[in-house]
Amino acid sequence: MSEKQKINILWFTKDLRIRDNESLHRIMQDDLPFLAVYIFDDDFFKSQQLGFRKIGKFRAKFLLESVLDLEKSLDQKKIPFLKKRGKTQAVFKQISNYFEIEKIVCQREWTQEEINIENEIKEVLPNAKWSKSYSQLLLKPDFVKQKLEKVPLLFTTFRQKIEKKLSIRKEFDTQNLKYTKSFFDLKLMSDNMTLGSLGFVDFEVNQSSAFPFSGGETQGLQRLKCYFFETRNLSVYKDVRNGLLGKDYSSKFSSWFANGSLSAVSVYHEIKNYEAEFGSNDSTYWMFFELLWRDFFKYTSKQHHNKLFHQNGILETDYDFKSDQNAINRWVNGETDSDFINANMLELKNTGWMSNRGRQNVASYFCKILQQEWRVGAAYFEEMLIDYDVHSNYGNWMYLAGVGNDPRSRTFNAEKQAEQYDADQKFRNLWLK
Ligand code: FAD
Repeated sequence: MSEKQKINILWFTKDLRIRDNESLHRIMQDDLPFLAVYIFDDDFFKSQQLGFRKIGKFRAKFLLESVLDLEKSLDQKKIPFLKKRGKTQAVFKQISNYFEIEKIVCQREWTQEEINIENEIKEVLPNAKWSKSYSQLLLKPDFVKQKLEKVPLLFTTFRQKIEKKLSIRKEFDTQNLKYTKSFFDLKLMSDNMTLGSLGFVDFEVNQSSAFPFSGGETQGLQRLKCYFFETRNLSVYKDVRNGLLGKDYSSKFSSWFANGSLSAVSVYHEIKNYEAEFGSNDSTYWMFFELLWRDFFKYTSKQHHNKLFHQNGILETDYDFKSDQNAINRWVNGETDSDFINANMLELKNTGWMSNRGRQNVASYFCKILQQEWRVGAAYFEEMLIDYDVHSNYGNWMYLAGVGNDPRSRTFNAEKQAEQYDADQKFRNLWLK
């Protein structure tokens, strides 16, 4: 039998982009040819938690669009790409039947399910080397370590220390890279993926959605250009970011960030470009401020590991709750005693999207008024949100349940919030009609 050809693998997970992709940049520096791979892992598409799917139809559609867009971009660069549905371990095993896998280059993850998958790959490829990068972060871990011995409990402390002599890395230059490695015969076919093959019925995007966008780097960069440079919405962001209606009260970047089709570092540099062209103000600063929140939850989860998923959270405070399936169902279906909560929950159910203001209110209502277990609410969000991100979702839920980064454990008053943010009832009328 002839010797197998040695290759590296560029394993795409939640970094579905070309621009500022550190893994792509790294693998291009190597002499070996490489194969890019994306796997729709059965563990995520088939399994359930606390009665909810791990991925619902909205994120599945967005993810599929993102991978197809990536496939096009890789094709333009003549980078061989394999997209598969199945168990990640099995796909790596299959590839290793044809090639000797020298190295796997990918984004570094630290949450349990992602680590489990990596460990399963290591079982079938014990000799493969690994090269991982923190490409989902805005702040480099070395920089954060220099500033902070430990990640503090409070965001303000984190922000103030980070902002002193702030340093953000440059983008990795991947735009002009050309794949010129020796051609190899793939012998493996990509799966033809549709929403149906992922276990969902195809659907039309709801006409009233505040997030009518498609997945993929091309769309993400288009949104960035539009929100910043074409409409200059960035200059008024701070004044309108608590809105509930329409595309433009906030950037809507989160969904592209979540699967990595947009890089937080790229957005940071575009804020700076924007400020150079149109001037800085509180709003341009506030977009950076929100990006810091995103990193804060990532660094918090990195420090506390699985406490992120414990009932008593990172504060390790006793958490009393009732367990009432009817109350949970009413919350999910927008049938609670509060019309403001109901409108937000119906928006989520029908679109996979909810504003930050809405999320704070419905989560607080779930934990404090209905007194249900926060992890059930978080699991429902995990299924439904297009922009689901493990760190932001569980971090924000812990925060609102009073077991996370806010020891004050406040409760939102939904009536007052409705008066303040939906005085003309337009939002409620949209979803409760
Ligand atoms: P913008 O207002 O335009 O902000 C720009 C970016 O800053 C966002 O894209 C996001 O990356 C970051 N950001 C803003 N607010 C927060 C925040 N509170 N926490 C972390 N990052 C923030 N965000 C997710 O990306 N995924 C989630 O799964 C998620 N779950 C949440 C659950 C709850 C209960 C709550 C209260 C918030 C959650 N958030 C989550 C945070 C926030 O609601 C969304 O990031 C934001 O609404 C996304 O809209 P945008 O991109 O238009 O935000």
